[in-house]
Amino acid sequence: MCLTVYKILIMIILFDIYFYIVHRILHHKSIYKYIHKIHHKYNETVFLATEYSHFLEYTFANLVPIMFFMLFSSYSIDLIIIWITISMISVYENHSGYSIIYDFQDYH
Ligand SMILES: [Zn+2]
Repeated sequence: MCLTVYKILIMIILFDIYFYIVHRILHHKSIYKYIHKIHHKYNETVFLATEYSHFLEYTFANLVPIMFFMLFSSYSIDLIIIWITISMISVYENHSGYSIIYDFQDYH
């Protein structure tokens, strides 16, 4: 397997693990209504809801992993941009209501 594809797969897997953990924390009953409820305000799946969130959620769930790879990995900026593009397509697809890959948004 090409090294570039391997590196992108590592970023996708690490981000998915990180995002799952952060998302589980955001759904904890003690903080959900203060932070993550804003994101779930939409009853229907709308791709713009992807970015509609509390600034703490946006920072820790979305920006921290990107900044982590940019600052602490030896990956090139080109590779990180490819990963961000793949991630954004996946997230917008997931929130669009027309999920092809997987339909997680409606079931949590
Ligand atoms: Zn959620």
